[in-house]
Amino acid sequence: MNADTKIKELKVKTALSPSQLPGLDYALNPYRGCAHACAYCYAPSVIHYKGKWGELVEVKVNLPRVLSKELRAKKKGVVGFGTVTDPYQPAEKKYEITRRCLELLLMHDFPVCIQTKSSLVLRDVELLKQFSNVEVGMTLTALDDGVRAEMEPGASSVEERMLALKELGKNGINTWVFLGPVMPYFTDIEALVDAIAEAKPRYVLVDKLRLKEGVWERVGEFVKGFKPELLPEYERIFLKKEDYYSGIFERVLRRCEEKGLRCEVNRLVN
Ligand code: SF4
Repeated sequence: MNADTKIKELKVKTALSPSQLPGLDYALNPYRGCAHACAYCYAPSVIHYKGKWGELVEVKVNLPRVLSKELRAKKKGVVGFGTVTDPYQPAEKKYEITRRCLELLLMHDFPVCIQTKSSLVLRDVELLKQFSNVEVGMTLTALDDGVRAEMEPGASSVEERMLALKELGKNGINTWVFLGPVMPYFTDIEALVDAIAEAKPRYVLVDKLRLKEGVWERVGEFVKGFKPELLPEYERIFLKKEDYYSGIFERVLRRCEEKGLRCEVNRLVN
């Protein structure tokens, strides 16, 4: 657990919320806040969190009980874990909220889609194997773990994520990779795609950095602290809005094709 992250317990009234994200009917977020503290995270603007991102995680301790009641009445649909938090962040080791929700969803045979940056997902392999419809997405934004440690300080290392992907695949669980957000000069496109190909995910979804409220301020601060010489480039791309991503997406698509990987570009508008 990140020593700087405070943990609080929280009681909620609802569990599943409707999701607008492609392929998902519902979103389920077992925590409010995220100790992974990624520099580019847009979740704070979605949940209207004003503090320093990563310093507070609220654990929805009664979520399994609320979900259990809701599942009696809800129409079956795909449940996405972790749309604004990571369901396998460090607090999950102790609280097992994600695990208990998965057990309930399995009982009702709901399809599940998980997205994480943590190898803790391997703890639940035996449970995930029992689902008739489940997929696990691993997010990867850089191959260099030094960059990863600065950009996603609380998340699993690149090596741990790659190993987790391979292990999930070996266990017959459908996997995919979220290659995003592509961070200019930090995401090493070709080398990262080559490494992903070795883990044999079913597909790759690539995305740009999305500048929701507050994201530019945090990304700018991150770049200024880590590689200040890149700040003018970031300003050119994100403030002057020069076209950067079409060339990047072409490179990702080309390399994925060479490696026999199915790849899609995230076409969401915002
Ligand atoms: S893992 Fe996801 S939710 Fe958590 S800080 Fe990173 S981007 Fe945000």
